[in-house]
Amino acid sequence: MKKNIAIVGAGVGGLTTAIYLQHAGYQVTIFEKNSRVGGKMDRIEKDGFKFDTGPTIVMMPKVYDQPFKDTEVDPRDYFTMQRVNPFMDIKTGNKTIPLSTDLVDLTNEFENVDESEMLGFLKYLTDIYEKYLNAKDNFIYKSFRSPKDFFNPKTLWQAYKLKTFSSSYGAIQKYISNTNLQYLLSFQTLYIGISPFNGPSIYNIIPMIELLYGVWFIKGGMSAYADALLKRYLELGGQVKYDSPVSQIVINANREATGVLVDGAKYNFDGVVANADFPYVMNNLLDVPEKYKTKYTKTKVDQMDYSMSCFMLYLGVDKKYDRLRLHTIKMAKDFSKNVEEIDNGKLPSDPSYYIYNPSCLDDSFAPKGQSSLYILVPVSNLQKYDKWDDYNSDNFEEFIIKKVQNELGLDNLGSHIVTKCRFTPRTFASRYNSKFGTAFGLKPTLMQSNYFRPHNKAARIKNLYFTGASTHPGAGVPIVVTSGYLTANELKKDLKPNE
Ligand SMILES: Cc1cc2nc3c(=O)[nH]c(=O)nc-3n(C[C@H](O)[C@H](O)[C@H](O)COP(=O)(O)OP(=O)(O)OC[C@H]3O[C@@H](n4cnc5c(N)ncnc54)[C@H](O)[C@@H]3O)c2cc1C
Repeated sequence: MKKNIAIVGAGVGGLTTAIYLQHAGYQVTIFEKNSRVGGKMDRIEKDGFKFDTGPTIVMMPKVYDQPFKDTEVDPRDYFTMQRVNPFMDIKTGNKTIPLSTDLVDLTNEFENVDESEMLGFLKYLTDIYEKYLNAKDNFIYKSFRSPKDFFNPKTLWQAYKLKTFSSSYGAIQKYISNTNLQYLLSFQTLYIGISPFNGPSIYNIIPMIELLYGVWFIKGGMSAYADALLKRYLELGGQVKYDSPVSQIVINANREATGVLVDGAKYNFDGVVANADFPYVMNNLLDVPEKYKTKYTKTKVDQMDYSMSCFMLYLGVDKKYDRLRLHTIKMAKDFSKNVEEIDNGKLPSDPSYYIYNPSCLDDSFAPKGQSSLYILVPVSNLQKYDKWDDYNSDNFEEFIIKKVQNELGLDNLGSHIVTKCRFTPRTFASRYNSKFGTAFGLKPTLMQSNYFRPHNKAARIKNLYFTGASTHPGAGVPIVVTSGYLTANELKKDLKPNE
């Protein structure tokens, strides 16, 4: 008899775990509260326009291919990618800097400021690439089960070598003096919802990954990747139950996960993988004495550090903005003040923001001659700011549209909008059960990273596993794909597929 495994949630973590387990011979059923897969890798289709609603920047393309290659198919039969270069316009101060992976272009940008900045940039790359190689082998692609997996001389020495105690921004300042260039190499920690001014310096690997491995675009948009994962999973014989919110993970008297409750009915399984946001799972889906939750009691979970959220606008526009690249970032005049406001629960007065214009590459997003635009404004999570009623949201929306129109020279943007949708942090909380409406789950502080991030296997409940952005190794699509791989391996160590 095949072992039956339930997965709670069809986000990237759930889908990836499901593919690996189904391929290894388990019978997997995913229970998803919404009516499509992908979780935050979501899609809205409205009035002839299509919007990717969450992730848009494809980094580490090899990781995207891995679940396909590991299950013996050619990823190109499931989705296609093209490299984008220059991959992003950064508007900082009164300059627009096109970020390129071409060393000649980069040298030009940095030398235009000063030759010493190029030298500093090359030193930064050397230093951070070395740390990346260390982190990759010792922390990112390795799961932690017991204290000895981390607290051993080799791993502790590698952790020390990461020298991650200074902030990302502080580490960049050691190499680069020009403020615009410093911003250019430090804002990327926002991709995982942590400030560069107090986030650990190891996250400087993010700009390095962009520059050394490139930025890519998936044909049809990011949600096409969720479709590709689903296709592979179904081919392998997996099942998905849509519109099926799990209300409880059932734990028996022997402290074993034995199934899930959905709409009052119990479904029996040999093991359960929770892909829904880890803090939400601990507080809402596990009805067990607190001591079995180890350190993740309700009080502790409520007090943990959470990443930022985002205010999102999805605009269907009846014209093309040809000069707008696929990815554009507009930095606040005072970036440190902007991030401080977000960290302290204030609506940013001069926010940084990001615009995604997939219509410049892909006609499937909008009717002919029109565009699908996505505006992302990093804001506080609901733990820090929760006043997103219609009035405040409308005002903020109007403020952002005017700001974008003026600062990016998108003439009369407001009058060209033919359809629109909006997500506030409340949407992330209600639509995906993301604790405090964060976009990236638990904040990756030093004490919530590596061994100290929730593990992929429950410590005191048998046959219960966790995957996704709030678990090890962390947030961001390629990292969550890795989490799915690690979680499937953890389960395989404990439960054989056919016994
Ligand atoms: C606006 C935004 C922009 C981003 N940009 C990027 C980017 O450019 N590049 C990048 O790499 N990453 C980006 N990310 C991060 C990336 O999208 C996430 O880290 C990743 O998609 C999270 O996947 P997950 O599987 O952990 O969780 P989720 O996507 O949250 O999936 C969890 C799933 O569980 C379901 N669920 C919850 N509760 C239940 C329940 N009780 N019963 C059944 N199902 C349940 C949810 O509906 C959801 O489908 C972005 C995120 C956001 C929000």
